[in-house]
Order: sequence, then structure tokens, then C-alpha cells
Amino acid sequence: MPDTPSVVIVGAGLAGLAAARDLTRAGRPVTVVEARDRVGGRIVNHRFDDDLEVEIGGQWVGPTQDRILALASALGVETFPTYDTGDLVTARDGKIVRHRSPTFGLPGAAVVEIAASQPLLDRLAARVDLDEPWATRGAERLDSTTFETWIRRHHATAAARGFWRLAIEAVFAAEPRDISLLHVAFYLHSGGSLERLLGTRRGAQQDRFVGGSAVVADRALAELRDQGVEVRLGAPVRAVEQGEEGVVVRHDGGEVRADRAIVAVPPALAGRIAWSPLLPARRDQLLQKMPMGSVIKCLVRYDRPFWREDGLCGQAAALDSAVTITFDNSPPDDDGPGVLVAFLEGDHARRASEMSARARRAEVVDALTRFFGPQAQRPTDYAERDWAAEEWTRGCYGAHLAPGVWTSFGDLLRAPWGRVHWAGTETAAVWNGYMDGAVRSGERAATEVLAAS
Ligand SMILES: Cc1cc2nc3c(=O)[nH]c(=O)nc-3n(C[C@H](O)[C@H](O)[C@H](O)COP(=O)(O)OP(=O)(O)OC[C@H]3O[C@@H](n4cnc5c(N)ncnc54)[C@H](O)[C@@H]3O)c2cc1C
Repeated sequence: MPDTPSVVIVGAGLAGLAAARDLTRAGRPVTVVEARDRVGGRIVNHRFDDDLEVEIGGQWVGPTQDRILALASALGVETFPTYDTGDLVTARDGKIVRHRSPTFGLPGAAVVEIAASQPLLDRLAARVDLDEPWATRGAERLDSTTFETWIRRHHATAAARGFWRLAIEAVFAAEPRDISLLHVAFYLHSGGSLERLLGTRRGAQQDRFVGGSAVVADRALAELRDQGVEVRLGAPVRAVEQGEEGVVVRHDGGEVRADRAIVAVPPALAGRIAWSPLLPARRDQLLQKMPMGSVIKCLVRYDRPFWREDGLCGQAAALDSAVTITFDNSPPDDDGPGVLVAFLEGDHARRASEMSARARRAEVVDALTRFFGPQAQRPTDYAERDWAAEEWTRGCYGAHLAPGVWTSFGDLLRAPWGRVHWAGTETAAVWNGYMDGAVRSGERAATEVLAAS
């Protein structure tokens, strides 16, 4: 073993790459081991036949996401604003409502209910302790309640209940009955507020990366390799052993020995690694209790962004459709093709996942036709990714916590276990679940390793 303590990093998503960069800069010998034959994990581009690349994983960034923006800037990747000029569309009760209102064109009674409940939630979120959510005043009670219970308690109208269910599906790709009220409050505080999470301008959907978010990961890989860091691709890690001497990470086709390991994979997949010694029981149970959401992300390509000519910005929110959210995902140049991104989330994604590809495409295109008019019926191309079906992710956007998990297991989320340190967006206190949280988690794990040896 070399004199300078070495580190093996499992997983080359943004978290693993950020950790590798910091440790390399600090002079530590680093080896990165990645299951896929590419880096980036949950960020990846789809390449259409004419080589146009569009994000089919994580993509948007916004204000206060300082760490992903700093990483991209250091790697020379620029951003451009998400297209959002024109009217939005809300679909509900079989109707289409065009609007520009922050209240989503909902009926008055629902708006009144939401105007009363949203400040309650924002106030609750603001008092959640981001580092120790379980230490928040009233944590036991908040963590014994599902978000669905909160919705029913504060809203009588179907439209207001529908709004909150849609918001939760859009943010977590899961259903409100699956998630603890404490976790929702933590998550809102982690990203700032509900408004920031849902917003385009001044919100989490404000900007995109030129060339797609995957460019950030690709450039990080190139930089690491230039610095002599070994990044093994196509090398799924099957087992991790740790003892007095160090750690051994066994992957298909080889192994890596090092002083310490950073495990930067989604919690559900960390639980599938063979650990020696066995993971402590409570940590294993934590990993069992952090399920991923379900999302199918669909890119529907047209000759041109025809909705813009009709004064529409391409954003739809639907309370009565399997396609719940859409955005204009066209490339930044004005005369390029038009691309709409459509999301199937939560229950809708699980149902659609079992349909034939042809029927699913038809359902998505029919929904876009309803939102944006008959021209949407004739796409020139279509691509989709079912993230729950991805072997090395098994669901998105991230993991969510059901009632009882924060209060019974939360203290273990980031706590190192011997020579093993944990990264990944699910371990982040700030922008948990987002690309920014992933970068922060990698940087935090690198700091921990440097402090420990
Ligand atoms: C459809 C979609 C849309 C999203 N939209 C946004 C958005 O607009 N903005 C935003 O900020 N975030 C968004 N996200 C979330 C964002 O992409 C993630 O938070 C972030 O990329 C997670 O990074 P990570 O490094 O923590 O995990 P990952 O990206 O999951 O990286 C983990 C890596 O570990 C690898 N791995 C897994 N198991 C093993 C193993 N056993 N051995 C070796 N390697 C292994 C995986 O292949 C992967 O490369 C979205 C995600 C999805 C899927």
C-alpha cells in the first residue's frame, strides 16, 4: 500500500466524480469504479439520429445550486435559460386552461385553500433542522404523518388536493401516501421552498447546460484521466470488505485495494452489495427503507417548436392525465427543432411501464395533442427512459423517506462506517435529491476522508 492513504470510489455519478476531483486535488491516490460503461449515472443525454443531444435524465439548475454551477463553470460548461415565454397550460376535469398565473389556473375555492395551506407548509419546512431533521421540534409527530394525510386535513376541494398530489409527483416521482410529512418539509427546506422547487425563473428549472448535463460528467472524467486517475467503467461492484488493513472492493473482472472507500451509489443499490463484515443491522434497514421513485422521461421531437407560435411556453401541468408535467426542451438555437419533454411519474409511471412501447408513446403523444393542439400529433421522433428499469439506478428522481425513517434511522444517513464513507444526493443536507446535492455530498465525503486519514 502506498504511503499516502488511497481511496476507492464506488459509482461515477456526480457525487463520485466530485469526491474524486477533491481528493485528487488534495494529492490522494484515487480509483473510481463504475458499473456502467459511461459516467454520469442519473444524468445522461439521448442522441437523436441527426446527433442532436437532449437530456433524458437530470437537467435543470437554478439559483442557490452553487456547487453544481461551480463544478460546471470550472469545467467550462455554460448554461442557457429554459424557454418559458408565453402561456402555461393546466389540464383538469377534461378541460384545458391557458394562464400565466402562479396559481396554475385553478378554481377560486382551491386557490383560497392553497393560499392558506402553503404558508403553513413553508413555515414548517423553514424550521426543519437540515443536518438533523429528526431533532426538529415535533419530529415524531411530523414523521408519523403521511403527506396525503396533510393534504386531506387542509383541503376539501378536489382541485386543491389534486394540485398537491401533482406537486409531490413532480418533485418526488412518488405518491403523497408514500412520504412522511417530515421528509416533505425537510426536502422543501433543503431546496429553499416549494416555490423554488417548482419554479422556472428564479427556481430549480431556471437553466439548462449547453450540450446537456451529461457534458459536466464527461468533462469531469476527462479531467480526472488527464490527472492520471484510474476510472474503471463497466465494472459493477459486487462486494466490499473492510478490515484493519484497509478495504477491498471486488468488481466484475477485478478488485481495488485502498485505505478507505466512498460509496456513491443510490441507497437501494448500496444494499445489494455483499458487505463483509455484514452491514450493521440498523444501517441495512435504513437502506431497505429508502425506496426510489418511479419516472419515465419522454422526449418528443418536432420539426420546430410550433407551440411557441401559438403563444405557449410548452409547460403543462395536468391533474387529469398520466402525463403530469411537460416543458419545452428544445435546443437553445432559435431555428432548431422543437422538443417537448413529458414526465410519467409515480403510479402513472408504474402503470405505463407495463404497457407496450407503442401504446405508451401513443398515450404521451395524445396528451401533448390535448395540451398543445393537433400539430403535436405528428412528432418526427420520440425517445423515452424508464428509470426504475435501469439496472444501476432502479428509480428516480431519488429516494424518498416514508413515515418513521428519519426519526428511527436518520442519524445513520451520513455517518461513516469504519473505513466506508457515504455519498450520493440522498445523503445531502442541501438540495437533497438534485444534481447540486450530489456534488455537495461528494465534496463532504472527500472532506471526511481527508480528515480521517
Ligand atoms: C429523469 C430524471 C430527471 C431529473 N431531473 C433533475 C433536474 O432537472 N435537476 C436536478 O438537479 N436533478 C435532477 N434529477 C436528479 C439528479 O439527476 C440526481 O440527483 C443526481 O444525478 C444523482 O447523482 P449521484 O451521483 O448521487 O447518483 P447517480 O447519478 O445515481 O450515480 C451513482 C453511480 O453509481 C453507479 N453504480 C450503481 N451501483 C453500482 C455498483 N454496484 N458498482 C459500481 N457502480 C455502481 C451508477 O451506475 C451511477 O453511475 C433527475 C433525475 C432523473 C432520473
